[in-house]
Order: sequence, then C-alpha cells, then structure tokens
Amino acid sequence: MQDVMQNLKNKTEFLWINPKNSDQDNSKFSISDIEDARARLDRFAPLLEKLYAQSKKTRGILESPFVAVKDLQDELEKRYGTKLYGKLYFKLDSHLPISGSIKARGGIYEVLQHCENLLLKEGLLKIDDDYSKIANDDIKNFLSKFKVAVGSTGNLGLSIGIMSAKLGFKASVHMSSDAREWKKEMLRSYGVNVVEYESDYSIAVANGRKEAQGDPQSYFVDDENSKSLFLGYSVAAKRLAGQLKSLDIKVDENHPLFVYLPCGVGGGPGGVAYGIKKEFGKYAHCFFAEPTHSPCMLLGMHTQKHNEISVFDIGLDNKTAADGLAVGRASSLVGKIMDTMLEGIYTISDDEMYKLLYLSYEKEDLKLEPSALAGVKGIYHINKLYDKEKLKNATHIAWITGGSMVPDDEMLKYINTAKKLI
Ligand SMILES: *Cc1c(COP(=O)(O)O)cnc(C)c1O
Repeated sequence: MQDVMQNLKNKTEFLWINPKNSDQDNSKFSISDIEDARARLDRFAPLLEKLYAQSKKTRGILESPFVAVKDLQDELEKRYGTKLYGKLYFKLDSHLPISGSIKARGGIYEVLQHCENLLLKEGLLKIDDDYSKIANDDIKNFLSKFKVAVGSTGNLGLSIGIMSAKLGFKASVHMSSDAREWKKEMLRSYGVNVVEYESDYSIAVANGRKEAQGDPQSYFVDDENSKSLFLGYSVAAKRLAGQLKSLDIKVDENHPLFVYLPCGVGGGPGGVAYGIKKEFGKYAHCFFAEPTHSPCMLLGMHTQKHNEISVFDIGLDNKTAADGLAVGRASSLVGKIMDTMLEGIYTISDDEMYKLLYLSYEKEDLKLEPSALAGVKGIYHINKLYDKEKLKNATHIAWITGGSMVPDDEMLKYINTAKKLI
C-alpha cells in the first residue's frame, strides 16, 4: 500500500492515482463556455494579426505545433531500460507566439476579454466590428486610464504584461523570487511596472490582489481563482482535436489518449485537461506532473483540503528549478473540478527535468525551460501501470509548456547543468 503523505514528505518520485476520478463533470462550466471563449479569440484574431507579425502566418490565431518525438522516445527506452508502448508526441506550447509559454493561452485571453468588456460598455466597440480597430490611438488612450495587475512566477506575468502594454493598459506584474531576471527585464522594456519579492508565488499574488483592490480602474488577474484564465486554456483542446485529425490519429476505445501536463497553481493544466475531457470523453486520460518540492495539487486533492493546505504545511520548501511550477498552494477553482476528471498526478525531481531538457535538446533540437519537461516522464509511469495490450495503439502527449524565448546564455546554463547530471 502506497503511503502518499510519506512519499510527498520524502520528496520521492511517484504516481498517485486519483480515487475520485469518474469522468463526470462537476463544474459549473459547459461546452458552450469553451465555445464562447473560442469565439472571442476568433473576434480578436484580426487585432493580433495586426499587432504581432509572428501571428500573421495563422491569421491571428495563437496556436502551437504538434510533433512526434520518435528519437527522444527511443532514447527514453534506453535510459529507463524498458520498452515504451504507444507513440510519444510533444504539444509545443513553448513555441506559442507572443510569450512563448502555455500562459499565452489563458493570460492573453483574460486581458482580451477585459479589454472587450471595457470597450463594449463604453460604446467604443460593437461585437461584430473588425477588432483590428482596437489598435487605433483613441482606443489606446481610453485603455491607458485602466490598469491590469497580476502575481506570477514569471510566464503569466510575461503574457499579461506584454499583452496589456500593447493594448495601452498600464500593467503591474508582481514577481515571486523564482522569476527569472530576463523575464523581468523583458517586461520593463515594454514599460511594465515590475514589483519584485523575496518570497514565493502566493505572496506575490496576494500583493497584486491588494494593489488592485479598492481601485475601480484596476483589474486583477487572479491566477488562483480565475474562470476566464481557465476557459482561455480550455480552447486548446478543440484545436488539438484538429491537429490529431490532420495526422489520422484516432482517439477511441482501442486508441486511448494520454496527456501529461506540468502543473503549478493548476489553471493552465486544469483548463487544458477540462477541454480535453469535454472533447474526447472517457478515451482521454489526463495526468498532471509536479516537482517533488512543490506538489501542491497532489497534496490538495489527496487530502481534499485543496487550497486550504500548502506544501509548507508538510515540511516542503517549494524550491525548484522548474520556476513555472514553483507554487506551494493550489488554485481553489481547479482542484475541485479535477477531483472527478483527472486520472492522476506524478511528482518529478529537478534532476530528472534537467536530464529530459538535455535529451530534448540533443535528440529533437528543442530549447525548453525546466518546467516544460515535467510531462515527459508520463509515458514511463503509464507503461509501468498498464500492459502492452492497452498501450500498443496509445497516443501519449507531453504538454511542453515553455522555453522558446529563453535567451541563449540562459539556455547554455541549463544545458551545462544538465550535462553534469547525465
Ligand atoms: C505556469 C506554467 C505551468 C503551469 O501552469 P499553472 O497554471 O501554474 O498550473 C507550466 N509550465 C510553465 C512553463 C509555466 O509557466
């Protein structure tokens, strides 16, 4: 019998299977909410196309590549000393336009939704307008009276800050001690106010919230609780379904889909997993991956205390090289929804993420940040759990969550650290 609490306290890598998973949806959301978010992103596509040259090739739709990683899978079989059944793919949110991480989904979506709400209310925009008009000076001037604030470990701040500044908003990003220096510098170059903390993510969020409170011109993007972020992330699933179809990849009784998502506070992976369950139902099996030092979602779901318990309460330090996942207390919104929709969560050590970072660079020529690799070990855990018959036609997707914007000298540091571990 597995002692979950002991494994967590000992920082042991392990897979936890969620006993409450029932493929039921207990949330207050539905497919029409996802559809509403998708339609909003469509309305904004002409604007994004105009503002960001990188999004021209997709006419303002921000979507990431989906690629097979056969060479890496072969290498993992050697390293783990076992055959890995099913085919491994990467969903490269690391390469999303504008901010180079999964946060380009939810973060940008919430800023756009807020912008739309303000402009509709003011009568400066109608829902069937060509939204590229939002880039004009009058609207920018109007938006400059408003402020957007957020607390972040780095990437959410980047997404919210870059998008807000581009639209004309004043932006304030409260960065936890984990946030990389280059992310702060990049934000400052956009004119974003960066507030730095010596403490972790929860404190940065609390201070961002406090700053926005009592200021009617201020809007706080609440990563611990936001429905808007969640739905922005969920749109990924419909787009993924199209990518699978284009490659003749089936998802059905005999062709199970396994998706492995790196988890911090839970909004990103939760929203994506929610969308995937709505899209593929019981044939999709979603798992989260968390650092051994920051397993806040596993702790919250296992104890059923959700956001009422933090990893500090069980003696962990929430210190990890996977800065995007350095979160000690899970989202209050997401864990409860995942109770019945998530199949499990596994923990992974920093060393293992570094090794996978190196192997992905060597074998697939990909520049990624440590957090992005957490999902890659999922195929190993699932191969230990299930037999060959169940897995021979399986599709495994490691959701690769960030890294294409990491500066070259930072990347070199990651590679050098990883080399020493290999
Ligand atoms: C934020 C982030 C995640 C996890 O998203 P949450 O919403 O915090 O759970 C994963 N990977 C990277 C690179 C991130 O920046």
